[in-house]
Parts: sequence; C-alpha cells; structure tokens
Amino acid sequence: MSEVAIGIDIGGTCTCIGVVDKKGNIIAETSIPTQESRDFNVFIENLSTAISDLITPLKNLDLRGIGIGAPNGNYYKGTVEYPPNLPWKGVSSIVDKLKIYFDVPMVLTNDANAAAIGEMIYGGAKGIKNFVVITLGTGLGSGFVVNGSLMYGDDGFAGEAGHMTAIENGRKCGCGKKGCLETYASATGIVNTVKELLSNSKTKSSLRKIPENEISSKLIYEAAKDGDKIALEAFEYTGKILGISLANIVNITSPKMIIIFGGLAKSGNLIIKPTKKAMEANVLPVFRDKVNIKLSELSEENAAVLGASALVWKEF
Ligand SMILES: [Zn+2]
Repeated sequence: MSEVAIGIDIGGTCTCIGVVDKKGNIIAETSIPTQESRDFNVFIENLSTAISDLITPLKNLDLRGIGIGAPNGNYYKGTVEYPPNLPWKGVSSIVDKLKIYFDVPMVLTNDANAAAIGEMIYGGAKGIKNFVVITLGTGLGSGFVVNGSLMYGDDGFAGEAGHMTAIENGRKCGCGKKGCLETYASATGIVNTVKELLSNSKTKSSLRKIPENEISSKLIYEAAKDGDKIALEAFEYTGKILGISLANIVNITSPKMIIIFGGLAKSGNLIIKPTKKAMEANVLPVFRDKVNIKLSELSEENAAVLGASALVWKEF
C-alpha cells in the first residue's frame, strides 16, 4: 500500500483535484468547473463525485487525508468566507460538507498558504524554517512560514500581504480599499502600470499597437525582452513597489528566503532585479544581502494541487 494525499485547489474558474504521493508525484488528476455550480451544495456533490471517480479505479492506495487550498480559506473553521471570485457568497463550510462523503482527515487553508506548504514539502524550501512565498498572479497572495509553522493568525486569515497599503489613495482594489500592494505588484497591476505610462507619455512603444484591453503581462514581458522602454519602466516600477513591501516583510519576519511564484514571476530577472534592489535599499542593515529572492521550483501547472496535498503531510 502506498500512502497518498488528495490535493484540491478551488479556483475561480476551475477546481483541480490530484492524488499525490509523498514525493510529490501526481498519480491521478481531474478537474471540475467551479463557476457552473452556482449552488454550493451542488458544487460539493460534483466535487465528491469527481473525487470518487478519481480514486475508485486506483488500487493499493492508503488515503491519508484531503488538503484543500481556496481563496479566503479559514484554516480553523474549514470554511471559505466571502471569496470575491467564487460563485457562492458568505461563508461556505467546505470541510464539514465534504466530510459527509469522505471520512478522512481534512485540512483547508488559503491558496497562497497551501503554496507555501508545497514549497516546504516538495519545493525549494525543504528544511527551511523561515520563509515567505509570494504569488504574483491576477492578485498577490502570500504565505508566511515562521519557525517551521505556517502563520495562520488569530482568525485563520493571516498573511494577506497583497492588501498592505503600498500607495496612499492609490489604485482601487477588489477588497474595497485603495492603494493595496496587489493593485501594483501583480499581473493585473503591471498591465495597469503600462496603461498609465502609455497615456502619460509620448515614449515610443510596441505596446501602443495593441488594443488596450488586450495588453497582458505576457505581452509586456515580451516587449521588455525586446528592449521596449515602456515595458522596462513598468517592470522597474512594479519591482520597486514590491521590493519596498518585501523589505517591510523582511524587517518583521526575518525570512531566509522569499520564493516568488505565479504568472508575473515567469518574467524572471526583469521583475526580480528591481525588486531585490528596492528591498535591499529598504531593509535594516542587519538584514542586508542575506535574504534570497528566488523563483519557485514547482511547476506552475501543478503547484496549487501539490500545495494542497502537502497540507496533509504537514498536518497529519
Ligand atoms: Zn486590497
């Protein structure tokens, strides 16, 4: 019998499910569309059917538990609470409902926290007791590991670096506040920076040929690689804002490393260099040149499911 965990990543579009062994090999995987189940109970039924269909044909497996990563996941209650991008409003008791179908240990936390545990169990943070994971996707997610444990905070929601105020009275954020870090340092943020730079200057740019609503972080990355001035300036600006916030994080938590992950992280040194420069300029001297910013070693495609499954190995 080989020991396996199920990892479930609940995303706005799609919920991915994987059966994962202790080394991080995905033995079987499937997915269901999240948005189609507008009723939460229907979602739970669809999810449990998908899990059963996935594990029934697998033989000689010892299922040790189910780990779930979800936006606005509450670790203590096993709930998802007021998620902005999921179809169900209010508080949804995922763990309690799913336990009706599967009598195994279950743990739920927010997706960025799950990514941090994924790095700890399978990725670049093996054996590291203090580190931070920052996911630069549509928004900015973060997970903090302090003294070997994920920081959940008093109410289970700790680690929302994306909503630290980066610019007073800045861009409007999905959370209702203004100037949150993620409105600048994310795939969405860099797109908005480019739009501002294009309208506030006459600098030549290949990005001017692209209709405004089609500008993406990927196109900005490609333009920057070709030396486009606007794209390069956007990376500099994004990195500067991110780096200052990371310096604040370093001053508080003293991590050994910061692992960057997600769509915008794929830009590599274009984002890391200005981020590192601004971080070093703003950390206490005692932390200078000590904190490594590195890219995740986990593949983007599987990281969310791996992170969710890693919760099982960490907790049970
Ligand atoms: Zn916000």
